[in-house]
Amino acid sequence: EATAKVIDGKAVAKKIRDEITIEVSRMKESIGVVPGLAVILVGDRKDSATYVRNKKKACESVGIKSFEVRLSEDSSEEEVLKSVSGFNDDPCVHGILVQLPLPSHMDEQNILNAVSIEKDVDGFHPLNIGRLAMRGREPLFVPCTPKGCIELLHRYNIEIKGKRAVVIGRSNIVGMPAALLLQREDATVSIIHSRTKNPEEITREADIIISAVGVPNMVRGSWIKPGAVIIDVGINPVEDASAPRGYRLVGDICYEEACKVASAITPVPGGVGPMTIAMLLSNTLTSAKRIHNFQ
Ligand code: NDP
Repeated sequence: EATAKVIDGKAVAKKIRDEITIEVSRMKESIGVVPGLAVILVGDRKDSATYVRNKKKACESVGIKSFEVRLSEDSSEEEVLKSVSGFNDDPCVHGILVQLPLPSHMDEQNILNAVSIEKDVDGFHPLNIGRLAMRGREPLFVPCTPKGCIELLHRYNIEIKGKRAVVIGRSNIVGMPAALLLQREDATVSIIHSRTKNPEEITREADIIISAVGVPNMVRGSWIKPGAVIIDVGINPVEDASAPRGYRLVGDICYEEACKVASAITPVPGGVGPMTIAMLLSNTLTSAKRIHNFQ
C-alpha cells in the first residue's frame, strides 16, 4: 500500500503567495512602490500564451503589476532586443521574462544576454548561472523551477546536507541549475541524462531524486531506494479517453509504484508546477526590494 507522504506543492505555493501579498502591500504602503514584472511573448504558440496568461494572473493575485509585449512570429530579433532594452530602462519594471522557446530565426543567447542581470527574474542570464556554479559567489536570481524544488524540500524539513542526490535531466532551465543548487546545499550530486547507462543503478543510491526528463513514468518503483524523497518536475501529457480533453498529465516518475517505496513525493499536477510561478513572484518581489533598497 502507499506509504509516501505527499508533498503538496499547491498548498505550499498558496502559502508563499500569501506571504508575497503581504510584503507587496507593505512595500506599497511604506515607499509607494509596486513591484512590476514584464513579459515578452513572441509568436503564437498556444502553450506559451497559456503560461504567460497564468503568470499575469498570478501577478495580479498578489498585487504585482504586470506588463506585456506581444510580438508576431515573424518579427525580427532587433524588435525583441528593443523591447528588452525598453524594460531594462523602465523604473516601473523590476523583473523581465522572455517566454521561451523563441522562434527559430532568433538567437536565444543574444536575447537572454540582453536582459539586465538586476531584472533577470528567470535566472537564465549566463552571469547568474555562472555565479550559481561558483563557490563564494551569489547569483542575483535562481531559475524558478529548480528553486521551487529546493523550497519544497526546505518547507518539508527534508535534510539535503550530506545526502546523495540524483538529478535526472541536464537542461539549462531545470536539470543543470537543480544539480548546482543541491550541491550548494551540500548534497553529493549525480546527474543522469540521455546517454547515461543503467540509470536505475544510480537512482537506487539516491536519498533525493529530482527528475526533469519529459518521459512519462520513466522512473519505476524498482529504481527507488526505500525511504527516498522524490521531486517530479516532469509534466507529460498521456492519452486518456476518459479525461475531458482526451489526455491527462503525468510526471516522469511512476507515481503509484513510487508511493510504495519513497518516504515523500510530489504529485503531478499539484507538485512542482505551482511552485514555479510562486518562485517567479518571489524573485520579482526580491528584485523590487533590492532595486529600491527596501527591507
Ligand atoms: P529538456 O527536454 O530540455 O531536457 C530533458 C533532459 O532529460 C535532457 O537533459 C535529456 O538528456 C534528458 N533525458 C531525455 N530522455 C532521457 C532518458 N530516456 N533518460 C535519461 N535522461 C533523459 O526538458 P526540460 O528540462 O525543459 O523539462 C523536463 C520536464 O519538466 C518536461 O516534462 C517539462 O514539461 C517539465 N517542466 C516542468 C516545469 C514545471 O514548472 N513544473 C518547468 C519546466 C519543465 P540530454 O541532455 O542527453 O538530451
